[in-house]
Amino acid sequence: MTGGHETMSKWEVVIGIETHAQLATNSKIFSGSSTDFGAAPNVQANAVDIALPGVLPVLNKGAVECAIRFGLAVDGEVAAKSVFARKNYFYPDLPKGYQISQYELPVIVGGRLAIQLGQGDSLSEKVITLTRAHLEEDAGKSLHEDFHGKSGIDLNRAGTPLLEIVSEPDMRSSAEAVAYAKALHALVRWIGICDGNMQEGSFRCDANVSVRPVGQQKLGTRREIKNLNSFRFMQQAIDYEVQWQIAEIEEGRSIQQATVLFDAGTGATSAMRSKEDAHDYRYFPDPDLLPLLIDRDWVERTRASMPELPVAKRDRFVAQYSLSSYDATTLTASREVAGYFEEAVAVGGIGSAKICANWVTVDLAARLNKEGREIGESPVSPHQLGGLVARIADKTVSNNIAKKVFESLWSDEGKTADDIIEQHGLKQITDSSAIEVLINGVLAANASMVAEFKAGKEKAFNALVGQAMKATKGKANPQQVNELLRKKLGE
Ligand code: ADP
Ligand code: MG
Repeated sequence: MTGGHETMSKWEVVIGIETHAQLATNSKIFSGSSTDFGAAPNVQANAVDIALPGVLPVLNKGAVECAIRFGLAVDGEVAAKSVFARKNYFYPDLPKGYQISQYELPVIVGGRLAIQLGQGDSLSEKVITLTRAHLEEDAGKSLHEDFHGKSGIDLNRAGTPLLEIVSEPDMRSSAEAVAYAKALHALVRWIGICDGNMQEGSFRCDANVSVRPVGQQKLGTRREIKNLNSFRFMQQAIDYEVQWQIAEIEEGRSIQQATVLFDAGTGATSAMRSKEDAHDYRYFPDPDLLPLLIDRDWVERTRASMPELPVAKRDRFVAQYSLSSYDATTLTASREVAGYFEEAVAVGGIGSAKICANWVTVDLAARLNKEGREIGESPVSPHQLGGLVARIADKTVSNNIAKKVFESLWSDEGKTADDIIEQHGLKQITDSSAIEVLINGVLAANASMVAEFKAGKEKAFNALVGQAMKATKGKANPQQVNELLRKKLGE
């Protein structure tokens, strides 16, 4: 396989993504049966879900509401009229022989999603255009394990509401594709339309990948990598696929449009079937369902119920709390994190906002991560963290001591930072005469170090600072100790 920078720089990667987000409704899109995950096989598929003769689908209003929320969140057009269509194909997990989807007239048209690239100071933003989003039902699932060489079919998932979100081919690397998938994942959870559980298949992506010579207008032939259910797999699958396509072309072969699967074990993609064209599905309007009509009123009522969106919140954090765009972006990764921060800063005071942002995104995040907890399960409440941050901001405690206080808050439920600082005598010593007394003691007890320093050994000075900090039990301001010590040694 060819690769490396030389080859890569001649080729441009083009990626468009189709995402299936399972909508967070209690019942299915056209029937009253439950959408709960994990039930025994085939107990949640009723006559409508498997389209027994003589039954009629009835559209779930909650699923439509989810689609409207999404349309508003990406600034797409909520179609006044959209139409459900039958997509006809044969597959064991689809005994009814067609999937109800939307085709020519989808519920959401257009839209855009900003994605974040890079890190820290090199953070940049790119806007991805969305083509459309449409409502459809999920199919059942084939089970290949535990059947002694045979396969089983579980139809529980049949009729589960999905929103399929289609992007324009705007991404130019696997990193951009992953950033897009992450931004979309965060958004659907933020607006409460999808739980985002990727292990359970609530959020899965198909990545359409092609390459073309740099400078060429016409798109290359794409291959579609199906059902990527982790961001890491998406990155690996696209990277492999890109190298493979470039190698094929450079070795004189051409790319055939195909649907491919990614094997996480080998890290390779391989063709599953040649790609169907839309006409193979014989789409036609479903005669059992009326067109979906959404009036302005419904849209406006939904708009009024929307939370502040991530981008708006991020911009407000920058303006209101003077945070860097990077901090504000990290804090608005989820509604829970953003909410935690705002509650903490309300207690800590606006002057502590930067310190508070650091604590939430670094210290607290690391501690939660270590124990595999979500921020909603943090033993340190935003109120408690706000109280601690206030004491860092007014210099009652140093950052180092604050870490100890934080540990106590973590394990000692119900206490405030002030309680712990008081109880353990952790107040920072800022009174210079008190520090001077301690330093005099250190100098007297370490005469040989003093002599070394006077003989020109700078290292000895650091050792003396260490001794002095130890004598204050870490409670003195290090800079102050430094200055006083220099002054004393200069005398
Ligand atoms: P389908 O896969 O159902 O046939 P489309 O033809 O509308 O649907 O395309 C699906 C996705 O593939 C879209 O996200 C689109 O941006 C992307 N896409 C289309 N052509 C290319 C291409 N040549 N390279 C990469 N992505 C592409
Ligand atoms: Mg497709």
